[in-house]
Amino acid sequence: MLPQEIIRTKRDGKTLRAEDITRFAAGIADNSISEGQIAAFAMAVFFNGMSRDECVALTCAMRDSGLVMDWQKAGIDKPVLDKHSTGGVGDNVSLMLGPMVAAAGGAVPMISGRGLGHTGGTLDKFESIPGYQAIPDQQTFTRVVKDVGCAIIGQTAALAPADQRFYATRDVTATVESVPLITASILSKKLAEGLDSLVMDVKCGNGAFASDEKFARELATSLVEVANGAGVRTSAILTDMNEPLASAAGNAVEVVNAVRFLTGEARDSRLEDVTLQLVAEMLVLGGLVQNEQAGLAKAREVLDSGAAAQVFGRMVSALNGPNNFVENYVNYLPLAPVIIPILAQKSGIISTIDARGIGLAVIGLGGGRTRADQNIDHAVGFVDLKPVGAIVQAGEPIAFVHARKVDDASIAAQALKKMYSIEEGAEQPAPRPIIIARIGEK
Ligand code: URA
Repeated sequence: MLPQEIIRTKRDGKTLRAEDITRFAAGIADNSISEGQIAAFAMAVFFNGMSRDECVALTCAMRDSGLVMDWQKAGIDKPVLDKHSTGGVGDNVSLMLGPMVAAAGGAVPMISGRGLGHTGGTLDKFESIPGYQAIPDQQTFTRVVKDVGCAIIGQTAALAPADQRFYATRDVTATVESVPLITASILSKKLAEGLDSLVMDVKCGNGAFASDEKFARELATSLVEVANGAGVRTSAILTDMNEPLASAAGNAVEVVNAVRFLTGEARDSRLEDVTLQLVAEMLVLGGLVQNEQAGLAKAREVLDSGAAAQVFGRMVSALNGPNNFVENYVNYLPLAPVIIPILAQKSGIISTIDARGIGLAVIGLGGGRTRADQNIDHAVGFVDLKPVGAIVQAGEPIAFVHARKVDDASIAAQALKKMYSIEEGAEQPAPRPIIIARIGEK
């Protein structure tokens, strides 16, 4: 079918054949399809949706538009596993989870993105580490996954090029917010990693892409069904994102938080719950343990024995970072020159936090970007963010801001105060469950 006939079919609400979707995706990758045609197709899907089979066909075609990794050929006989988060604030789970799963016997070739908008990006966090080679060549990537069990790196142009062009057009034509298009976009990149199993962390709340639970469930269900339809065992966990997950938000500050988590120096409790649950889910899906209970126990064991911290250190060193990073992270990570406390204006209970606003305040400090080509300041951000439910006294710090300049710190402090609601004489709010639901086969 000609591209215009494919667009017409979708415009009229009819179902496309897999071969036509495959041809269209190939045309996106080889530039034989124009930007106007991509936009029209995206809008037709936006309004008329896609069946699961159509979405599987689009996902597989975009995955196959570039390099698809083959770990068996590379000599890896462990289950190849990964996790993907739809993005949040203070979400540094990947930094601990990759090493934990590797320490428990999995292989984790994690290809992560940079932050865009209010959510942070794993790649930016790793680039806080001096020397860390975030985009190594394929040979190095393979060697590190093989030797260490885990390599967390950035996306290259070789991976799912059809999605890169498709997403760029969607971004400027108001067609991002379509469940089948989001599904195919996320999964085409993840499935190009050559995975056996995948766990999706679908964030839900005021700091997430999916602010309401209905949309989060719809997206999670689509991701699970389409990934399984494409042959990769996948489940999803819906997790709460109505406050930052870690008590730090930024880049270097989240790396500090992650290293302390791994060594046991300090662990934020909500972050710990989510990380252990996701690791357990990956171990079950990968067949490394029998059930969730055994997965949770194994996750705890590799954490408490220091095995996961050791894998983290070996990964950093293998990717050209310092070889004693875990022991000496304080000496390696950039520290912002201005650090000031942000004080509670009144006494009471923290009732709500606008997590998205905190993500935007990190951008205001220079720690995130509003355009894909911007440089960021890895040192800035917030630490010691008090959680919802904490009781504070007027004049007590609710967080500390790390900034490049005094003026930036003052602006960020004012912004952060507005993100916190403190209620005098209020009752302790009932704790919100951090794990909202699991979607997938039992
Ligand atoms: N993230 C992606 O990679 N693609 C989308 O379409 C939306 C979020």
